[in-house]
Amino acid sequence: MYPGAFAYHRAKSYSDAVAQLSELGEDAKFLAGGQSLIPLMKLRLSTPRHLVDLNLIPETSYVRSNGALRIGAMTRHADIAASNDVSRLPILHDCAAGIADPQVRHMGTIGGSIAEADPTGDWAPVLLATGATVKTLGPGGERSIDISQFILDAFTTALEPAELISEIEIPLPGGRSGGAYIALKRCAPVYASASLAVQLTLNDDHTCKDARVYLGVLGLTATRVDAAEEVLRNQQVRAQQIEKVRGAVMDIAEPTSDMRGSADYKRQAAGALAKVAVEAALKRARGEHVEVSHLYA
Ligand SMILES: Cc1cc2nc3c(=O)[nH]c(=O)nc-3n(C[C@H](O)[C@H](O)[C@H](O)COP(=O)(O)OP(=O)(O)OC[C@H]3O[C@@H](n4cnc5c(N)ncnc54)[C@H](O)[C@@H]3O)c2cc1C
Repeated sequence: MYPGAFAYHRAKSYSDAVAQLSELGEDAKFLAGGQSLIPLMKLRLSTPRHLVDLNLIPETSYVRSNGALRIGAMTRHADIAASNDVSRLPILHDCAAGIADPQVRHMGTIGGSIAEADPTGDWAPVLLATGATVKTLGPGGERSIDISQFILDAFTTALEPAELISEIEIPLPGGRSGGAYIALKRCAPVYASASLAVQLTLNDDHTCKDARVYLGVLGLTATRVDAAEEVLRNQQVRAQQIEKVRGAVMDIAEPTSDMRGSADYKRQAAGALAKVAVEAALKRARGEHVEVSHLYA
């Protein structure tokens, strides 16, 4: 199906994009990779009369590491996966490299993904687990918004009208830190059935100093699993703790039965992902090199 008629506008800079969207009003949308917006327009679930294209704005696609990791909003998933700068945060590579298929990864952007706030998207649990900040530019100027305050609900963010995401900033972890992100997918080009992000920091004696655990997909937004974090903190992480984390994740999951599987299947899957993700994060925090990829079933 073809989208409804729309006018196409090119932005020369982020401030130009904000000015254009402010003038065009509610019937206008930013266009990034088009991997969510264009399919929705083809289905006529979204019918903007104007698109303001961000793709030709220079200096909006980058991964830089200076004090913190800074990712330009227009950076494609594939470029994040390929960046050497994410090596201190391998959880970012886990996420970017596993999104859909190469076509989607080479077009879709991290800014567009977060702006879309699809509950089944991969970035939200990862950016929550790593404590990211979303930098924005709107008619009222620049803002820095903690990711936990940015994603408000399914498909709902803190973005004001005509405000855009310019950059994602992620604090670089110190030594003895490691994270992992694993999703269960039916096949590469589809969204996950369940996903789990873990970021751990260990003390010198290898007890757990800090832990962040987020469950993706099985709620309207990614869900922080406080009970799992409690189990890990101040403990040597062994099989007993990992088993308790598995239980805490299964307890908090709110799956519904659909074409991706029954609620019970997804709950069991979330528990299994928690076990694999914590084990991988722990090894990385101990300095081991661990390859992580999504599970397909
Ligand atoms: C077949 C297929 C499979 C997919 N599978 C997955 C998957 O497994 N996991 C996953 O996470 N994603 C998946 N996606 C989505 C993909 O990751 C998209 O990249 C993402 O959802 C949107 O990014 P985009 O750059 O394409 O944004 P667009 O589609 O261009 O825009 C999406 C929305 O965000 C707004 N927007 C875009 N950029 C900005 C900005 N900088 N500031 C403010 N608003 C902005 C737009 O106006 C629009 O409303 C899939 C997509 C397809 C087509």
